[in-house]
Amino acid sequence: MITAPTRPAVSRDALLDRFGRVARSLRISVTDRCNLRCLYCMPATGVGWFPKNRILTFEEIRRVVSVLASLGVREVRLTGGEPLLRRDLPALAAMLAAIEGIEDLAVTTNGLLLATLAEPLLAAGVKRFNVHLDSLEPAAYQAASRRDALAPALEGLAVLERLGAVPIKINVVLMRGVNDQEIPRFAEIARQRPYQVRFIELMPLGGGEPLELDRLVPGAEVRRRIEAIHPLLPVGRDRPAAPATLFRFADGLGDIGFINPVTEPFCGDCDRIRLTADGMLRNCLFARRETDVRAILRGGGSDEEIAAAALADVAAKERGGCLELQRYYDDRLPRKMWQIGG
Ligand code: SAM
Ligand code: SF4
Repeated sequence: MITAPTRPAVSRDALLDRFGRVARSLRISVTDRCNLRCLYCMPATGVGWFPKNRILTFEEIRRVVSVLASLGVREVRLTGGEPLLRRDLPALAAMLAAIEGIEDLAVTTNGLLLATLAEPLLAAGVKRFNVHLDSLEPAAYQAASRRDALAPALEGLAVLERLGAVPIKINVVLMRGVNDQEIPRFAEIARQRPYQVRFIELMPLGGGEPLELDRLVPGAEVRRRIEAIHPLLPVGRDRPAAPATLFRFADGLGDIGFINPVTEPFCGDCDRIRLTADGMLRNCLFARRETDVRAILRGGGSDEEIAAAALADVAAKERGGCLELQRYYDDRLPRKMWQIGG
């Protein structure tokens, strides 16, 4: 006789760590593969992709998310690698949007495949998109991403706007000497369009170019450079655990956000946990430990075992990885950003 799987009782705030933080937001990397090779994220060649059978299936992801939702996770963000490379991503989005307790479903993408996938993703229940765009100039875009792909990225943004998926968040990672000359141009976009342009400080996570601390453009400097042209009005954060500090122009449509993990670590309010494409639960981008959920899934483990593993993983969360970022500029981590899920 087949019995229905048992679910742990829904218990809000169960995923509590030693520092009083509660995990509510899950970032799922659905693939480690990517169609760009951003300088700070991937090497130019020779990326050793995970073998296909190591990547979680949609059904396995659904199962982990439903267990985590029963423990209080409310938001899911799909990331990668480039999540849209899993062309049937709308099917996964629909499966996750239907899970009891999941209130928000978002996607972080480089935008190259949005022209065809934005509409089915929105129809499947995706509420928000973060589009990563490091330059508005073809040559600088190519220098930052090692691909000549500015046109499809901009087309992807235009499609989102046409579909009314606003406000659109644009993630810009600045590298001194590569794209920091475009700060005023990005700021102008946030004045004129319904975009939240978020400047993210360069973190020492890359698997490619050895980008040193002098490439980092601190958020405070970016703010000064924008305010030299247009004054900014502080508007706080979207929610306390959101990484971006937001500002608005007195005369603008959109917002400017600063995500400053290096110079202003925001670990104290962190509510994030991560699931890697190969099924490892990580309590922090910089975690030194990970929990092998794939082994539980494929070893016939129960939902209770998945829940127990997640509770233990979160309980072991350190005070905060961003707090040590300066040190990591010298001492790089073995698992890279595209393998964790940014
Ligand atoms: N491919 C998608 C994208 O680029 O948005 C999703 C994955 S990517 C790893 C997620 C985010 O992490 C992107 O906004 C990217 O710019 C950011 N990111 C990657 N490596 C980074 C680094 N070393 N420092 C700061 N941000 C980084
Ligand atoms: Fe790909 Fe995103 Fe990494 Fe760029 S940042 S290489 S788009 S995963």
